[in-house]
Amino acid sequence: MNKKDYYETLGVSKNATDEEIKRAFRVLAKKYHPDVNKEPGAAEKFKEIGEAYQVLSDKNKRAQYDQYGHAAFENGGASNFDMGDIDLDDILSSIFGGGFSGFSSFSGFGGRERGRSRARRGDDLLMRIHLTFDEAVYGCKKDIKVSVNEECDECHGTGGFGEATCSMCGGLGVVRDEQRTLFGIMQTQKTCPNCRGTGKTFKEICSACRGEGRVKKNKTLTVTIPAGVDNGSQLRLSGKGGAGINGGENGDIYLEFSVSDHKYFERQDDDIYLEVPVTITDAILGCKKEIPTLDGNGYIEIKPGTQNYTKLKLKGKGIKNASNKTTGDMYVVINVIIPTKLSRKQKELLSELADTDLESEPEFRDFEKALK
Ligand SMILES: [Zn+2]
Ligand SMILES: [Zn+2]
Repeated sequence: MNKKDYYETLGVSKNATDEEIKRAFRVLAKKYHPDVNKEPGAAEKFKEIGEAYQVLSDKNKRAQYDQYGHAAFENGGASNFDMGDIDLDDILSSIFGGGFSGFSSFSGFGGRERGRSRARRGDDLLMRIHLTFDEAVYGCKKDIKVSVNEECDECHGTGGFGEATCSMCGGLGVVRDEQRTLFGIMQTQKTCPNCRGTGKTFKEICSACRGEGRVKKNKTLTVTIPAGVDNGSQLRLSGKGGAGINGGENGDIYLEFSVSDHKYFERQDDDIYLEVPVTITDAILGCKKEIPTLDGNGYIEIKPGTQNYTKLKLKGKGIKNASNKTTGDMYVVINVIIPTKLSRKQKELLSELADTDLESEPEFRDFEKALK
């Protein structure tokens, strides 16, 4: 394929502004439009201009073209951009205003002229799914009720019965139309109103789908939700969305999760926080304490002299990330509980303790200075 450089085609420099590109296209499009210019080669030239403009007027496509050249738009290239999708109607009407809707008369651009028979991708669906903390952390199977467009069983997607060629357009899907435009009266084509561009009519329109060929169906999907999903994470169910039209691929369903809080565990990304109540004596003397973790009960060692709100890290005891397979950590936060109901015996013991020197810690000496 020996394609001409897009900048050359429009006669602009590589660093032309959007405005310069638009202006150049406007001038050339007027000059070479096949309804105006009957010289041989004009149609081909017009197509080239349209293609060049389509790419250079779009910031992303222009950047890709600058980087990869024409290769950017070939099959398997850096972009999914399809030259067959060039729609000059849209380009021209965006520049000149709405009066150019008739340009679809010009063949060679694919797309528009096929009207409704063009393949279209089915709809995507976004659904919000609520999970308990455990379902999100450990993963689960969920039955999800969806309502998606699927091929109509009655007419098998055709939309009717007793198919016949459209009498208004003779099966072409388009009819001639005359329009006054900037260039004078132009004979153009428009989508046939009788068959809406399909070229076919039916003796009887399918009542089940009202001629659409598709109907909404309620289904239940059993979905495996991986361990570790979080509030706001999404899961894509590829091809489970609305049915494609005219051979187009199916849309997708996206599940977006909201997760309820746990009574004891607090989640921060893939880490888990657990507050553990500890008596004053356990904090002072140290102890072994049984705690819940995500994989069953376990023990932590509380060292003698542990301060309130001390944070202990249990490495790798957090949540397994659903996408990158790493695992978070667990943090145990010590909450020393000061007793509020004391027996006489306990009061006696504490008074005895109070008589000893408990204020030898540096914090107390430091605080005394604040009083001077
Ligand atoms: Zn039907
Ligand atoms: Zn028709």
